[in-house]
Amino acid sequence: MTEHQLPQGFETLAIHAGQEADPQTGAVVTPIYQVSTYKQDGVGGLRGGYEYSRSANPTRTALEECLAALEGGSRGLAFASGLAAEDTLLRTVLKPGDHIVIPNDAYGGTFRLFAKVLTRWGVEFSVANMQDLADVRAQLRPATRAVWVETPSNPLLGIADLTGLAEIAHGAGAILVVDNTFASPYLQQPIALGADVVVHSTTKYMGGHSDVVGGALVAAEAGLGEELAYHQNAMGAVSGPFDAWLVMRGIKTLGVRMDRHSSNAEKIVELLSGHAKVTQVLYPGLPEHPGHDIAAKQMKAFGGMVSFRVAGGEQAAVEVCNRARLFTLGESLGGVESLIEHPGRMTHASVAGSALEVPADLVRVSVGIESVDDLLADLQQALG
Ligand SMILES: *Cc1c(COP(=O)(O)O)cnc(C)c1O
Repeated sequence: MTEHQLPQGFETLAIHAGQEADPQTGAVVTPIYQVSTYKQDGVGGLRGGYEYSRSANPTRTALEECLAALEGGSRGLAFASGLAAEDTLLRTVLKPGDHIVIPNDAYGGTFRLFAKVLTRWGVEFSVANMQDLADVRAQLRPATRAVWVETPSNPLLGIADLTGLAEIAHGAGAILVVDNTFASPYLQQPIALGADVVVHSTTKYMGGHSDVVGGALVAAEAGLGEELAYHQNAMGAVSGPFDAWLVMRGIKTLGVRMDRHSSNAEKIVELLSGHAKVTQVLYPGLPEHPGHDIAAKQMKAFGGMVSFRVAGGEQAAVEVCNRARLFTLGESLGGVESLIEHPGRMTHASVAGSALEVPADLVRVSVGIESVDDLLADLQQALG
């Protein structure tokens, strides 16, 4: 890490953590070390500790140190995708016969990983409403090793009390895993609230430009960090150097982007809340949102994700998505450009018929950082 240990704020860390100027050339930005292997000075004589790029690569190391600094953890690790990070985490902390509590509104791909992959491997899971701590407690078993939560959740923007969940998990001898993809570490710091591991799809706000797929883990404690690093190398689902570089570049502007995503979202919410065709707006910044007080306590702002229900049911919701022009119809989220989608038929089609099914009249928007008046005009015309 850095030599000069002045106290550093989030935006400073986002730009500098793990990223000293290149010692050989003075390059201000960490280069893309597009390399697989490293010359040794005599057998075992590694220069700077690098041996083979699955085990470690200087570009990835820079990103990993930055991730750890931003989440306030002891170890950051970068992966090829969010799901690759999740798989590595789960097969590090769980073994056949173990049990995990997962949210009833988990990201669809995360639910599929549990339901279709981990169950075949002998791991059992229970689904809980993470907004109801009594329900989470009721799902615990002697074999429970982890509690998994996303807050805000996808696509219903539910808010879970991280401090409360950490207490429950730790009381049961389990770890608390927080998927912090929707908030990003700029808006929410789960480790400070008791989380043991933070998960990211860096594809979303961390990368921030819809040009890379990546994932990350940050461990609070060095011991678990070591185990995860061992499995990262043993399982091999690492981030490539160019992808790591893109994520690192995106992170430099995370703070200013999140501020604008949040303020644009607030204006969109205002429009939707007063619109005759909208029957409900789901946004934690709304005082009537059931998780508003907790969100106000554990988040710096309420983020750029907004969901709403459209009068007229599924067909009306699909038509709103189809009519949008500046809001691009597409999956994913967290980029500078605004996106719109119909979760029931798109991102959450894989959970249809399960406890995680979402309302058919639901539309989800990822509010970008374009001129907000243009975004408002587009939603206005899409609502008809
Ligand atoms: C996208 C996403 C994931 C999965 O990440 P990938 O990078 O697509 O593998 C996990 N959790 C959340 C909340 C996501 O939005």
